[in-house]
Amino acid sequence: RTAIFWFRRDLRLHDNAGLYEALKQFDAVVPVFVFDTDILEKLPRYDRRVDFIAQAVSHLDTQLRELGSALHIEVGSPVSILPALASRYGAAAVFANTDYEPEALARDAHIERQLVQQGISLQRFKDQVIFEKSEVVKDDGTPYTVFTPYSRKWKAHCNAFFLKPYPTVQYAQCLAGRDKLQLTTVKPDVAVLGFKPTDMVFTPPSVSRTCLSDYGAQRDFPAADATSRLGVHLRFGTGSIRALAQQAAGLSDVFLNELIWRDFFQMLIWHFPKTVEHAFKPAYDAIVWRNNAADFERWKQGQTGYPLVDAGMRELQATGFMHNRVRMVVASFLCKHLLIDWRWGERYFAEHLLDYELAANVGNWQWAAGCGADAAPYFRVFNPSLQAQKFDPESRYIRKWVPEYGSASYPAPMVDHAQARARCLAVYQQAVK
Ligand code: FAD
Repeated sequence: RTAIFWFRRDLRLHDNAGLYEALKQFDAVVPVFVFDTDILEKLPRYDRRVDFIAQAVSHLDTQLRELGSALHIEVGSPVSILPALASRYGAAAVFANTDYEPEALARDAHIERQLVQQGISLQRFKDQVIFEKSEVVKDDGTPYTVFTPYSRKWKAHCNAFFLKPYPTVQYAQCLAGRDKLQLTTVKPDVAVLGFKPTDMVFTPPSVSRTCLSDYGAQRDFPAADATSRLGVHLRFGTGSIRALAQQAAGLSDVFLNELIWRDFFQMLIWHFPKTVEHAFKPAYDAIVWRNNAADFERWKQGQTGYPLVDAGMRELQATGFMHNRVRMVVASFLCKHLLIDWRWGERYFAEHLLDYELAANVGNWQWAAGCGADAAPYFRVFNPSLQAQKFDPESRYIRKWVPEYGSASYPAPMVDHAQARARCLAVYQQAVK
């Protein structure tokens, strides 16, 4: 009996929930990956994530070949490709892991309707989070909107059962043999796909125990390189959230909490999909943003005259990564100092972050703008100069990204902190009075 396993944002063999279920139930599982042109066509050619995905897919194919199988790779719209492939292979079912983003849910519902007409089922499994949907809710069944009680319930709920790995490779004999596959000539190569190659070299993730044990003390210092850098691996599933949570449990409660924030935001977007476009707190949709395009450009280019903000924006542009503390500072600066709509910033991050994740990005932007569930109170306005003194006291991070800092060529601050703060409070008060 044949089934298809459709890899999406779970680009690994080991500890892959949906793949494990497919291999347990079927004796010929065809591994499939589709370079989704519905997504790729909207991306600028310099998008760095395409290179990451291409390399991860290539790695996956190599691993499958070592097991006697291979990855069936296609380029096109999954909406037409999956139903066609399922019938070509005579598959009884298509297996995948759940993607909780509203657009992905709509796409999958569409594909499921077509498959069902062909008498084929689409089976989806929880893989990307520890707890999904309504697994951690209040006693009355309603979703939490405040993090601390959510995290308490999350921890009370979590036990070895939820963290144990799926031993996928034990069932490797149920992968369809290479001779049974109708492989295409598509190469998982960024240039062939029409995108610009990067200097990235894909390596499967690992996190050191030292990193975790130091995390609580060091994670706020951008020069320290003390965070895991696993965001991109969690985004594309090249690392397993269960393995990471297992490692964190008992070693670093601070780190575990960050993983719980990730589940928290995923849970929120599931229950409140309208927050993709709207403030969680409706009154904040009435803020009269200045939305000055020239100011926005200076922020994007790292030319605000606030060195921590500029360092962060330049790091993002150059690498696709920005340290969390600095993300908080640049986001607050955009919304509060410049009074630019959080959605503008959210979209800019969405284009550039390698670890971009709709739920986390929207949730954190709304946190910074003060309009999200459990957000920072709006009247708490980060002082970007004090943040730099506190978290980059020797300006090591700043000098790395803003080498001209301190020279005449570095711009003066584009707004005065005290004036910008007062302007922000007046505008916010008007909206939420
Ligand atoms: P670590 O500090 O090592 O944390 C480990 C993992 O925990 C991260 O990889 C991530 O999966 C999760 N995590 C940590 N902090 C958060 C958080 N605040 N919210 C949700 N998950 C968290 N994170 C994203 O994964 N995608 C985004 O698009 C994203 N956008 C952000 C936008 C803003 C304005 C801010 C302030 C934060 C954003 N974050 C986002 C959260 C956080 O900054 C990144 O997860 C983190 O910097 C990634 O680096 P790391 O892997 O070294 O994290």
